[in-house]
Amino acid sequence: MAEATLKKPEFSTPQSCFTKTYVDQKFLETSILRRYDLFREDPEYSEKIRLIRDEHKEYLHKSARGLSEGYQELDASQPWFCYWILNSLDLLGVLDDTSSFVYKENLFEKTIYTIARCQGELGGFGGGPLQDSHLAPTYAAVNALAIVQKYHKGALDIIDSKKMFSFLLSLKQPDGSFAMHIGGERDLRGLYCALSVAYLLNIQTEELIKDSELFVKSCQTYEGGLASVPFAEAHGGYTFCGVAALGLLGKMEVIDVDSLFQWLVNRQMKFSGGFQGRTNKLVDGCYSWWQGGAFPLVVDYIQKRDGISLQNNNNGDWAFHQFALQQFILSCCQQPDGGLRDKPEKNRDLYHTSYCLSGLSRSQYNTFSKTTTVLGIKENLLKEIDHIHCIPVDKVEVAKLHFQNSKLEENKN
Ligand SMILES: [Zn+2]
Repeated sequence: MAEATLKKPEFSTPQSCFTKTYVDQKFLETSILRRYDLFREDPEYSEKIRLIRDEHKEYLHKSARGLSEGYQELDASQPWFCYWILNSLDLLGVLDDTSSFVYKENLFEKTIYTIARCQGELGGFGGGPLQDSHLAPTYAAVNALAIVQKYHKGALDIIDSKKMFSFLLSLKQPDGSFAMHIGGERDLRGLYCALSVAYLLNIQTEELIKDSELFVKSCQTYEGGLASVPFAEAHGGYTFCGVAALGLLGKMEVIDVDSLFQWLVNRQMKFSGGFQGRTNKLVDGCYSWWQGGAFPLVVDYIQKRDGISLQNNNNGDWAFHQFALQQFILSCCQQPDGGLRDKPEKNRDLYHTSYCLSGLSRSQYNTFSKTTTVLGIKENLLKEIDHIHCIPVDKVEVAKLHFQNSKLEENKN
């Protein structure tokens, strides 16, 4: 375990013009400072800080049993809830514990049943039963089933690879992008969801991936980050989608990686240590994944291209301050009764729980040096997240093997 080096934070540089963002930023930093004071008052606090696993597990258990009324408007996100709950439970190690509620309450069977009901005739998945197939819930459904497959053989059998291929191909556009659904909008999200599914299912033909890298390239902005579509604003979520897509395609060189790298490192906020999603925005826990998760592919590419090492011996492999990010997640994003959130004054939700934990895992594992960088007690270490599909690494292996084997079977027949 590397040594934690956390300095006293300094407030962001005052601006001459007091905008709403500036006032919000100041207010937020004051609330964060109170939490970071604990580190200064007790020199050993950074060794004691902990991930409240039991509370998170309880929140996820409650959510798996049924969601509150507040989630009603997200009826078209049912596969997403399955994915966020399972990914969080898996990162916390709960799925490997056969004495947990997951087994007593048949969570795997329930997940398969819920997701199967969202499957459309076209081969993709909708947000709920009888809803149109859409790339976003399709991505979430495939990820959720990939997680379940290791524990419940047959989970991935509900996916029809041939139909899925036709579904993805029907959404392919001449500029290399994908529409989110038939007649739907095209953006980097759709491209990432389509390619992530295609590569897991081993159906990434030349026809399907043709010119996708060119669409990613067209979304790079003057700032260096990637936008949803050409000429929009650079944004962390879309940047991850574009970087992960280029990682799958093995074509990182099509974009200006140096300006992307510069944009990425500057999104980690000096005061809080967390990431913002866009320039001049407030810190938000979910970008621990969207921004933090983009580093491995970018760092790997630059290191190989230039024959250099960006590794920092005190702080891990990823060229951002991994301890500072963990300090933000553990001090500011954990709700005391479980679940994780955007920032201290916000409420927990399943989306932020999954992406805060994914970002925490990313900042704990150093893939190149095969070491870990863990702030606080050693039990804070989560399972390792995959840098492209955003599910634990062992689940990616299981899913790929499953679809390779089913292809072999098919070829034999
Ligand atoms: Zn967020």
